[in-house]
Amino acid sequence: MPPISLLNTLWLNSNMRIKLVQPYFGSEEPEAAAQVMRSFMIAQGPRVKEFERAFADYIGTRHAVATSSGTTALHLALLSAGIKQGDEVITTPFTFVATTNAILHCGARPVFVDIENGTLNMDSSLLEESISGSTKAILPVHIFGQPADMNGISAVARKHGLKVIEDAAQAHGATVGNRKAGSIGDAGCFSFYATKNITTGEGGIITTNDDGIAEAASSLRNHGQKAKNQHTAVGWNSRMTDMQAAIGLVQLKKLDAINRKRAENAKYLTEGLSGHVDTPQAVEGTVPVWHLYTIRTKKRNEVVKALQNAGIECGIYYPIPVYRQEAFAKMGLNGSLPIVEGVCKEVVSIPVHPALSRADLDEIIGTIRKVC
Ligand SMILES: *Cc1c(COP(=O)(O)O)cnc(C)c1O
Repeated sequence: MPPISLLNTLWLNSNMRIKLVQPYFGSEEPEAAAQVMRSFMIAQGPRVKEFERAFADYIGTRHAVATSSGTTALHLALLSAGIKQGDEVITTPFTFVATTNAILHCGARPVFVDIENGTLNMDSSLLEESISGSTKAILPVHIFGQPADMNGISAVARKHGLKVIEDAAQAHGATVGNRKAGSIGDAGCFSFYATKNITTGEGGIITTNDDGIAEAASSLRNHGQKAKNQHTAVGWNSRMTDMQAAIGLVQLKKLDAINRKRAENAKYLTEGLSGHVDTPQAVEGTVPVWHLYTIRTKKRNEVVKALQNAGIECGIYYPIPVYRQEAFAKMGLNGSLPIVEGVCKEVVSIPVHPALSRADLDEIIGTIRKVC
């Protein structure tokens, strides 16, 4: 077990000179939010509708349904795809707990498959052996903005009649061939949390080409309302506000530029670090969006200490497979998958965000090269 307590304090340490993540916005975003406030129409309304249209067009799906968070997007997408009590959903243990929580909130059981050493995503060659009579869906995560093997996953899903819900919370704009992450499965789920490539503070969205999923999700996010005073399902309040949507509309216009800068920074880091640590690689035919730039090294403790001493923030994503989290382990979901267990001991994420200067990147590279 790594020294989690030490590592998990790093993210909160705002004294660091070079931040691991920071929102990237100018004066247009607060101005857009202020305009909504001055209209006094601040809850879900016309800006949310506009944001949904713009986001669906960007991802290349017929529909988008905005929600209060990436977690509620996942929860409502799974429910809208028909996932219910007693079903099994195959997913990855190398992710944020929200992925697993969304499955459990439906009353379904997460079944974990191991990850690939290269992309750190779900290993699609292990899916078939995990399918049981109760399996209803596959929930891959495009971890760190690196697309999962959607061709392999889709082939297994088609063969066995399973739904595919993509957790694209870290992958706004990533592509597989000529398709965007979030447009390949039955539904895609995005987060606009403060640390993501684009943000609305909190917020999420479901993208889908399926009319039924879109209709169910937009009803469930609003108390199962079908028409005014007509409620046909027990739903939730998982709505986005017009203030958030107004911010999102401005952020979305900047997304390609943000991702280009992240890709440039990633390329520079890889040039400086390869041969010293294991650097992340893009898979042929995919374009990652570098939500996090995650290296692997057996000298992780030394790297973390050196970066910290130099005032450079870093983070461990993720120190343990989710099935080892106490909440899930005590439900009997704990297991031991060999690749993810090894990966969790070696990963460390270093800054790659668009506000970094060339000098910042040189400093990060120099600090790591001194210990590796
Ligand atoms: C951020 C994130 C989520 C959850 O999104 P929230 O908006 O924080 O609820 C889900 N899955 C992954 C992989 C994430 O990184």
